[in-house]
Amino acid sequence: MAGIFSGLEKLGLGNIGGGDLFEDPKKKETVVKKEEPVKKLSLVNEEDFLFDKKYACPVCESSFEVKTVRTGKVRMKNVDLDLRPDYSEVDQNKYDVIACPECGYAALGRYFTTLNKYQIEDIRSKICMNYKKQEYHEPTYNYEYARNLYQLALANAVVKKAKNSEKAYICLKTAWVIRGETQRLDPSADDYDAKKEANDAQERDLLTNALNGFVMARQSEEFPIAGMDSTTLDYLIAALAYETDQYDVAGKMISELLTSRTANSRIKDKARFLKELMAEKNSGQ
Ligand SMILES: [Zn+2]
Repeated sequence: MAGIFSGLEKLGLGNIGGGDLFEDPKKKETVVKKEEPVKKLSLVNEEDFLFDKKYACPVCESSFEVKTVRTGKVRMKNVDLDLRPDYSEVDQNKYDVIACPECGYAALGRYFTTLNKYQIEDIRSKICMNYKKQEYHEPTYNYEYARNLYQLALANAVVKKAKNSEKAYICLKTAWVIRGETQRLDPSADDYDAKKEANDAQERDLLTNALNGFVMARQSEEFPIAGMDSTTLDYLIAALAYETDQYDVAGKMISELLTSRTANSRIKDKARFLKELMAEKNSGQ
């Protein structure tokens, strides 16, 4: 998992990320390949969709503001197979980590305030004591900065011994941010091929980690898991397995969904669509 954490040194946190990311080490090595269509998007006045929201840090108690997307203002253009919302005007996924600029505590919004005192102690000793403050005063987040925030959130999740689902969710959302960046790369730039290749490899690595973490969460955690009910999570696992070429896992989850009495028709339609994609892939090889 070194790749996921490479770059943490510059935040002073190079010591985090030595071990396994998830609790249960039933790791699977996968060989994966994926081609994505090249599309160039431009961002128009991203700033207009943001406002500064105030937070109080549960770890160091300082108050700070973070850029937040105005809900209801951005239009969703598309939802990817793995449920990533794709917005036209602004890549909302960049803004989902809340990070305290003073002490380095960071988490996804849904987990930001839920810390017990042991977790706070661990974050203070393992994150805050080493954290090097980052200067960033731009009106919008660039992708490098957004990725740093996600990495910081993952480091915090490891330190506070977060549930597998929380770590998996951070991996998933980091992969979404990288995909958003890839979509917005300029195909005419000199470094386009190298950058796209690096991004695709990182995205795949994160999707694989997200899949493994969600599979473990499904075995041991109670629903809702990362805000998802069981059929949504089953669908997500199927989609992630499909995206990382683990067709046996994908196939199993899809048949469970299609025969499920509780899955709604929307999820069943999505599962059926995945099944068709798998069949196409199999016949094309
Ligand atoms: Zn703080």
